Amino acid sequence: MKFSKAGVCAVFLSLLSVGHVMAEAANSDGQVRPNVVVLATGGTIAGTAASETQTTGYKSGVLTGEALVASVPSISKVANITAEQVSNVGSDNMDNEILLKLAKRINVLLKRDDVSGVVITHGTDTLEETAYFLNLVVKSDKPVVVTGAMRPSTAIGADGPSNLLQAVTVAADSEARDRGVMVVLNDRIGAARFISKTDANSLDTFQSLENGYIGRLVNQKPQFDQKVTRDHTQATPFDVSKLDMLPKVDIVYGYQNDNGYMVDAAVSHEAKGIIIAGVGAGSASKFVIPALDKAIAKGVVVVRSSRTGSGYIPMDEAYPGLLGNNLNPQKARILLMLALTVTKDSSEIQKMFNRF
Ligand code: ASP
Repeated sequence: MKFSKAGVCAVFLSLLSVGHVMAEAANSDGQVRPNVVVLATGGTIAGTAASETQTTGYKSGVLTGEALVASVPSISKVANITAEQVSNVGSDNMDNEILLKLAKRINVLLKRDDVSGVVITHGTDTLEETAYFLNLVVKSDKPVVVTGAMRPSTAIGADGPSNLLQAVTVAADSEARDRGVMVVLNDRIGAARFISKTDANSLDTFQSLENGYIGRLVNQKPQFDQKVTRDHTQATPFDVSKLDMLPKVDIVYGYQNDNGYMVDAAVSHEAKGIIIAGVGAGSASKFVIPALDKAIAKGVVVVRSSRTGSGYIPMDEAYPGLLGNNLNPQKARILLMLALTVTKDSSEIQKMFNRF
């Protein structure tokens, strides 16, 4: 096959912009831009459906990270991108093994002088869990941004391309340093500590109830309004570099007529920790309380949280267990897994819940 000079040049330039990480470097138009690595894990952003109107029941995690980046040509005006595939799963199948692999890779990448920031593409269903995990284990102040999409790549009005462009824009911005891990979708910049998926279908599903966003994007420019004061990233004691697995922590949901045997089930499956997604401010039925007492007597660490998804858990002698602060149950589970890699001491773990 014969290549024209212009064709060879174009391939060479696209390899420079998409294929390789270099020091902050001039792009095809001679502009110097930061290097950002996109780590793709799957999700709807990489999903495809049979028609442009199908927005449920499609297949998540089909397109590769490179294909996602290639579908948004204006990204090359913002940063030099390298795309890597960490996994290609719907985030319902995100697990501790992938979390650890992702975190270790990010820490290796961010140690390099020639990497300015990292973007993770992820399914939205459990995105907040991965974002909060990274918020606790990334050892760098460089920007780490998690993004996803509510509509598959084939949908009319797909939100993935815009979310990816915005996430890369934030990751390439030096103002974005030292803000903890960020979640960028739908023009909003949220803190991993506070943001949650609040609706199963709508585009503006990621909300930061009570705490607000840390910034927004206007005309493709990040506007930062506040910094999270909770300790994160380099200020935590969590070191994933030597971890191959995380301690098993289960979540037990509270409800009327709850008779406590879900707690027994978690203990018999050797949970090292249990998060109670309690009713209201972390309350539990009179049948759950003895089940929790038994679990604690066996050395299981119990943390109370609220199934309402927001609000603080107050001290209440009537209920056993540590206080999950204002973490929702799924984020409390992430913190308890990490806490248990460092200590089994309840008062130390409580301090971590107060702090992170
Ligand atoms: N089920 C998808 C996932 O979490 C939903 C999404 O990405 O929006 O992977």
